[in-house]
Amino acid sequence: MAEPGWGAGEADWSSRDIADAAMDGFGLDVVKVRPLGGELDQNALLDLADGSRVVAKVSATSTSVHDVRWQHDLLELASSSQGLGALPVPRVIRSVDGASVVERVRHGISRAFWIQTFLEGRTLAQLNSHSRTLLEQWGAIAAGLVRSLAAAPMPPGVNGHHWDGLKAPQAVALGLAAVEDAQHRKEVNRIIDWFAGKVDTHEGVLPRSVVHHDLNDFNILATMGSDGAHSISGVLDFADALHTARIGELAVAVAYSMLRKSDPLVAASAVVRGYSRTQEITDEEFAVLFPMAAARLCVNAVTWTQRTLSSGQGYGRERMMHTWPTIERLAQTPPDLAEAMFRDAAGAGQPAQMASMVPVTPAVPDLARLLAVARPDECEVIEPGQTRSTDEAVGRHLAADSRRSPRRTTEMGEPKNMRLGVEIFAASPIDVVAPIRGFVEADEALAAPERPMSAPLILRHETDDGSRPAWSRWDGLTSTLTAGAIIKAGDPLGFIPAGSVLRVSLYGSKLTATLASGARVSCSEQRAWSVISMDPAEFLGLDATTVESGASTAWGLERVIETRETHFARSQRSYFTRPMNLVGGNGSWLMDDAGRWYLDAINNVSHVGHGNARVVEAASSQMRRLNTNSRFVYPGIAQYAERLTARLPEGLDVAFLVCTGSEANDLAVRIARQVTGNADVLVVDGAYHGNTSVVTGLSPNRYKGPGGTGPDPTTFEVEQPNPYRGRFGYSDPDAGRKYAASVAAQIANLKRRGRTPAAFIAESAMGTAGSIFFPDGYLENAFSMVRDAGGLCIADEVQVGFGRLGDVFWGFETQGVVPDIVTMGKPMGNGHPMAAVVTTREIADSFDSGMKYFNTFGGNPVSCAIGAAVLDEIEERKLQSQAELTGAHLKEILVRLGHKHELIGDVRGRGLYLGVELVRNRSTKEPADAEALMVSELMKDEGIIVYPTGTYNNVLKIKPPLTFGVDDADLLAAVLDEVLTRDW
Ligand code: PMP
Repeated sequence: MAEPGWGAGEADWSSRDIADAAMDGFGLDVVKVRPLGGELDQNALLDLADGSRVVAKVSATSTSVHDVRWQHDLLELASSSQGLGALPVPRVIRSVDGASVVERVRHGISRAFWIQTFLEGRTLAQLNSHSRTLLEQWGAIAAGLVRSLAAAPMPPGVNGHHWDGLKAPQAVALGLAAVEDAQHRKEVNRIIDWFAGKVDTHEGVLPRSVVHHDLNDFNILATMGSDGAHSISGVLDFADALHTARIGELAVAVAYSMLRKSDPLVAASAVVRGYSRTQEITDEEFAVLFPMAAARLCVNAVTWTQRTLSSGQGYGRERMMHTWPTIERLAQTPPDLAEAMFRDAAGAGQPAQMASMVPVTPAVPDLARLLAVARPDECEVIEPGQTRSTDEAVGRHLAADSRRSPRRTTEMGEPKNMRLGVEIFAASPIDVVAPIRGFVEADEALAAPERPMSAPLILRHETDDGSRPAWSRWDGLTSTLTAGAIIKAGDPLGFIPAGSVLRVSLYGSKLTATLASGARVSCSEQRAWSVISMDPAEFLGLDATTVESGASTAWGLERVIETRETHFARSQRSYFTRPMNLVGGNGSWLMDDAGRWYLDAINNVSHVGHGNARVVEAASSQMRRLNTNSRFVYPGIAQYAERLTARLPEGLDVAFLVCTGSEANDLAVRIARQVTGNADVLVVDGAYHGNTSVVTGLSPNRYKGPGGTGPDPTTFEVEQPNPYRGRFGYSDPDAGRKYAASVAAQIANLKRRGRTPAAFIAESAMGTAGSIFFPDGYLENAFSMVRDAGGLCIADEVQVGFGRLGDVFWGFETQGVVPDIVTMGKPMGNGHPMAAVVTTREIADSFDSGMKYFNTFGGNPVSCAIGAAVLDEIEERKLQSQAELTGAHLKEILVRLGHKHELIGDVRGRGLYLGVELVRNRSTKEPADAEALMVSELMKDEGIIVYPTGTYNNVLKIKPPLTFGVDDADLLAAVLDEVLTRDW
């Protein structure tokens, strides 16, 4: 009977048997035997008396000593392959007699037994996510194996086994009856049909070779490097090696790379890219790759379903956990799309485009009239299912739909908002006719011969020479046509009901037409779709130039920049030398007018995500009901003031609601001056507090920067407590107190002139100065000195407040202080101008000299509804703790990147408020400002938005919406790593 913990293999050796065999045959003194999983072999991790570890393998009865020796030959080839860079495979340890494998009899059965070195690492299945680089390495390993095993001898005995990629239909047939779920059986059958269609056609010309054939996510190990990224450290288990189609090596890697991915084809494409760098892929190999990979997962799922049923073992259940959901996705994926994406990833050309289909009759006879009244620029944002109130309009094939939020159509990963096909929006019913002759295809998804009137209509069309048929797909049409009907040009197809959308798309295969049911695709898929679909504009009889995608074309980047230059003051600079023309936002993503998405790592204003549904709803419903100024009395302002002040320490319970951070700081300083009767204000060197005249004079970042004219006569600077660049560094435990001495010095300086400060204003963590966090004790010491001198302490929380720092809601909490006045803004309204000053009842009362304070827009009902929605989002979605977790993860990776890239001088911050300071020389700390800009530009080209900030413009600011997830953090770090690795 097997001991617990062993795999599915014929595990009838005890731990003692294994330890004895290791001692007798190999002279190894085993102190501990730990079971490892395995399909057929019994594998064990052995701890040896000398502290080292090795792996012991007891082979199944079906594996002969000859088979094992052959595997050892392959290991030898892989580890020593000339000129390829040895692959990280285990080394075989020789027996006391010099043999690589021994035979040993237990319970009357002889088995092959051998020992190999132990490789460090976690399996790819154990990693939460796989970076693009790791996926590419996976492909490169497959290519390396193909090349190094090209010279391998043929296997001894019978070649081939259950998992042979070319025999997937047979393997599936053996176990499919054990799969209880009818839907799963249907999906498997569909994939096996694709497999048969492609592999039967091409098998004869597929190059053959000896391959490892089991590069699954349990057989590949990765370790984390000093840069925080995982890279492949080991390839295990040559027990499935055989002589078969060479592409099988890649197909297995591709198959398992698609598990647990939000975009399986995007992950698989990275594997293909890595493989193609050193190994050619023939056209036939491209044709079979996806069906073989999908079929491999079917063999996996079916085999383990059956084995689990028959043996009751849990090993298979673990293997299948992620397999069925992926099979479900793949069965809905057009194989042509996968092939086009793989070719694209490998840089292989694409097969010829589809033939054009010239219409005889325009599909919508009075479309010209409809287009004449079309006003695509004015279409409002609509959600699926909502009707649009404006007139008809037409949306273009594979163009971004900037008017419709992609929110509802995506889950994780890259948003999908490229239209597949042309869309015609009908305000009143529109009759549609066939533009050319066609034949109504049966819908394989529907069992009944009668189509429901609203089901998608798929028509087959022949070209005149009959060479290349095409299939048109009509979604949103109400049609009584039945399968098999033959239609002439001009025959009625049906009508578009009032208020709905007709989508017409055109494909080169019926299968693609059937599976192309998602109305929107992502940018990453766009090129591949353009290969397997055709723009139906011409086919429908539309003049391609009239089919515009709305605002995006009318106000292209050039026109926007030109107009900005004409009508915008030049002092209002934009980000980037080559900016993107933004037309949309969703969560942590921004979209340009070409529909390209960018991961936004700098918008701390869009705190709860771009286009946040709750915020949008709160704003629009309040706007519909009531908006007015705050001299009127309405519930929203009272509720919000109560809720906001509840978020602050006791005593800070009176709020002034204003519109911008600058205004808040301006008011805070005015209050301090009036309450103390003094004028002088202490500011931290490098600080930025806003754009009004008063706060510009209080912002060293501006008055000492380009064009600056120096401080106001009432402004007194204190030394910047900067643990990276300043006099007292990270290692000085007393740095906070030492920096605060500068506050004492300025107070003494004022005293000498017979003056006392009105206030000390400090950002709780400095933003524009370059994400600078004060050393412990700084504010505590500074505040007590200022208070002793009769001044008030103002904390500027405009950048860092509202939970961004993760473990605390307000930045001043990190310093263990309670300010007299707190100012806040940016994230408060998630982009809606909203800011506040919060102080004590006593201070607020003594500010009331009789003079009215009135703010027209501050705290209006719409602002308050928005502010409340932002707080709801932070609380209900637990965004503060998400900021803590994601931030800690991101910081850890960035710190490791710092070990790898000399340019990174310092990584600092807390939660989702991080800074990466770039320097040319780590000793002189010469700021690498041009490099920081370059890195930002290059990262933007890769779809990631970061930007330089800081006194020297050399700190990459990272302060994304709090919706930013761990996957987003991984993507950002991978792209930063890649950009820093480039030669530029
Ligand atoms: N204080 C700080 C710390 C800021 O970073 C900013 C804006 N960058 C402001 C105040 C001014 O806020 P606003 O731009 O909303 O006026």
